[in-house]
Amino acid sequence: MTNYGHAVQVGVEVVGGADSPGVAGALAVLAEELGYDAVIFPDRLETGGADALTLAAWTAARTTLVQIVAGRLDATARPASVLARSAGSLQLLSGGRGVLMLGSGSATEDLDGVAEAFAVIRALQDTKPGRVSLAGTRHQLADAEPGPALGHEVPLWLHGSSTAVAALAGRVADGWSVDLEEVGVGELAALNAALDRAAVDAGRDVREVRRSVTLDSTDVPDVSTLTSLVVDMGVSSMVVRVGSQPKDANEGTLRAFIRDIAPRVREGAEHALPPGSLSSRPARRTDVRSRRRPGIAYDNVPADLAGTAVEPGDAAFGSVRSTYLRGGNPGLVLRPRTAAEVASAVRFAREHRHLPLGIRSGGHGVSGRSTNDGGLVIDVGALDAITVLDEPARLVRIEAGARWRDVARALQPHGWALSSGDYGGVGVGGLATAGGIGFLARKHGLTIDHLRAVEMVLADGTAVRASATENAELFWAVRGAGANFGVAVAFEFVVDEVDEIGWAQLAFQAPDPAAYLEAFGHVVADTPRDTTPFLILGQGVAQLMAMVDSSDPDVIVQQLQPFAEIAPLVQQQVVVAPYAAVMNMFPDTPHHGRGEPVSRSAFTREITPGFASASAELIRSGASHWYQIRTVGGAVSDVAPEATAYAHRDATFALTVMGGNAQRLDRWFEPVRRQSSGLYLSFESDRHPDRISDAFPAATLDRLRRLKARLDPHNLFQDNFNITPAHDDTRNAS
Ligand SMILES: Cc1cc2nc3c(=O)[nH]c(=O)nc-3n(C[C@H](O)[C@H](O)[C@H](O)COP(=O)(O)OP(=O)(O)OC[C@H]3O[C@@H](n4cnc5c(N)ncnc54)[C@H](O)[C@@H]3O)c2cc1C
Repeated sequence: MTNYGHAVQVGVEVVGGADSPGVAGALAVLAEELGYDAVIFPDRLETGGADALTLAAWTAARTTLVQIVAGRLDATARPASVLARSAGSLQLLSGGRGVLMLGSGSATEDLDGVAEAFAVIRALQDTKPGRVSLAGTRHQLADAEPGPALGHEVPLWLHGSSTAVAALAGRVADGWSVDLEEVGVGELAALNAALDRAAVDAGRDVREVRRSVTLDSTDVPDVSTLTSLVVDMGVSSMVVRVGSQPKDANEGTLRAFIRDIAPRVREGAEHALPPGSLSSRPARRTDVRSRRRPGIAYDNVPADLAGTAVEPGDAAFGSVRSTYLRGGNPGLVLRPRTAAEVASAVRFAREHRHLPLGIRSGGHGVSGRSTNDGGLVIDVGALDAITVLDEPARLVRIEAGARWRDVARALQPHGWALSSGDYGGVGVGGLATAGGIGFLARKHGLTIDHLRAVEMVLADGTAVRASATENAELFWAVRGAGANFGVAVAFEFVVDEVDEIGWAQLAFQAPDPAAYLEAFGHVVADTPRDTTPFLILGQGVAQLMAMVDSSDPDVIVQQLQPFAEIAPLVQQQVVVAPYAAVMNMFPDTPHHGRGEPVSRSAFTREITPGFASASAELIRSGASHWYQIRTVGGAVSDVAPEATAYAHRDATFALTVMGGNAQRLDRWFEPVRRQSSGLYLSFESDRHPDRISDAFPAATLDRLRRLKARLDPHNLFQDNFNITPAHDDTRNAS
């Protein structure tokens, strides 16, 4: 027996796309409907046929499940870097269903050129090292940028029937494909052995390479021959070739193969092989496995998550390792696509309590704890649907992985907006479990004030819904301290009717920061709640951004005028625009945060002279490169402090200060803190336990700790500002 442990897949090779692309596409769709695993388009450029990659992309748009293989591509006739970009694009557009199968070169077998092409394509998919250079004979790369950033590497296959091709596949490919009519069963065994030898010599595991045979539909071997290919030669993919016959004949062939032959081969193989020896789990290459971190049961990643998991050696790792602000090096990133998969990921995390666990939605956490070093990350970014549940009630369900820019864009056509933050790239999951201090805060309150229900996976892996009437204590806790209680999967919000808004950006001379701050505080006190200003203060300059919830230019000007008079204006811009336009002002780029973010937060009810002068000293010290004051109050203060875990309802201003050196920043920030009270954890990075007491008043913290003891007694969710369970008293939590 020679078996490599791969579940048997069946595919269709569709020939002749150029003369009848409609037929080729229809056959691909039919193949998916019938349950085929893969559709292969062989490249026929030399005979004037259709381009395989174009056919593959065309088919990707018409199918949702089937793997799409651009086959037998002549890597010596096409620049490998272009092939890599095309394959990456196919992978992105198809949702990870693309496969690239190279041929052995057109006129002569140019295997050195093919080997170089493999190296170039792999290098351009690898997001880890940054730019790459490769000096090959046929293919070169000079300081090339990898990309597009992929969720997963495009599997690279090699097609060909010579011993040299089989050996090259053993050295570099993820799969090897051969036409059975060219080699026959006897030669196949010898080629397979050559592949194995080459793989072992290259330090690879022979199981890394799938083996596929293509069968002429007019000459399909009997079931026992096919079964023996699987059991004795490790063939795990059988591809039936159609295309030259009329459409009806092709359909008949496809139906007959999947109905009469494939199940019997699968059954026969399962019967002949030891139980459980065939797996559909993706096999990692040896070089990828060598980068694994200790303490993680990589081979036990639940089957439903295996296809979404990213390990340190994977090409996609560079795009998932870090967050917006913090560099990271986690041991495993799980990317569930459904609530059930989130539960699966949480159960897996429970088996790894000895490691850090980060929960990630948009990766904009200011503390950066949605990445770590050597631990697990559950990244719910793929759960990003936005659905209107009840139009008259303006009730909208938003999944945790959505970004606020997408939310704003989805709500705009309805004339709605949801008070969120100031930056569209921020994720819903992190912000909506903490508060949400944004440009509509004074008029419409915090994001959490619009929450009506949350769907969450708890530490024991159960999925629950929390609202005012179900799991009410959890519903209270999620609105300010959600990250400690589970993984939020989706939220239901009642959103606001928001017409176009006034959006202002003003820049001032501010040589005396303390005087500017005090004047700003006085103007805010007299400003209607329609207007929510944010202020960034630096050495000598002040920048004010303000949103006025009105589309009436007179109202906008009237409410902004007092701000414009605080100090000499050096620049001003005021526009009437949709809220979504503000949320989409900045493009979000892939996250390549480095080092540790240093951020401090404080609330204050008013800008007292003491607060202003301590702030001025801080700004002058140069210890901070970012001093920002957001206004709250207004509708935020309409909610009682005990109504949500976010309790600082009496604050009028929220301060965020960022610096490069924690010690230096703290030396200058401490006097400011003494003039303030409380803090917003979403703008804090100091993990000292005192910060938890600053963030939650004693009664709130006590209540949270009791609930924590009930819902997460073993403290699974602890990486980001841990509320420790109150093990001594869980009776009062309901
Ligand atoms: C550029 C920028 C602008 C910002 N602007 C604002 C603003 O205007 N207003 C405001 O209030 N905040 C703002 N923030 C802070 C931001 O809201 C928080 O950092 C928030 O946690 C980020 O959410 P995320 O999902 O993008 O981050 P992530 O890094 O993915 O998550 C941050 C933390 O949230 C928790 N978390 C994430 N997803 C989930 C989930 N699904 N279930 C449970 N817990 C989860 C975890 O503890 C995680 O460590 C800003 C941050 C940045 C970097």
